[in-house]
Amino acid sequence: MENCLFCRILEGEIPSTKVYEDDQVLAFRDIAPQAPVHILIIPKKHISSLSEADQLDDVQLAACLRAARLIAKQENLTEGYRVITNAGPHACQSVHHLHFHLLGGKQMSEKMS
Ligand code: AMP
Repeated sequence: MENCLFCRILEGEIPSTKVYEDDQVLAFRDIAPQAPVHILIIPKKHISSLSEADQLDDVQLAACLRAARLIAKQENLTEGYRVITNAGPHACQSVHHLHFHLLGGKQMSEKMS
């Protein structure tokens, strides 16, 4: 989609540090990491957030979570990790292409909001 930051990353128009790619998803390091490991996992098909997940087939949606598991192994997150997606203004979503944050490499707070 035109003017979507993550679509432009997918197209290679904007550089990113890729950590994983398959036919369904791309994953790259967050530009402003909030944990020692902070990776964004995006479906290759543009949808704006999880709220539009009915427009994504189940294979692509599942592929994002399967990628999270694979990347967590790749990044050696043996003590655990957190996967978050922000949808809409109350969640402070800032980029409107569905993405999952994979966070790890430190002890995280019990609080999630
Ligand atoms: P959200 O606030 O959930 O929409 O998350 C958007 C994320 O994208 C933030 O954590 C940003 O730091 C990250 N971000 C913004 N621009 C880039 C970029 N060019 N490369 C990698 N991550 C980015």
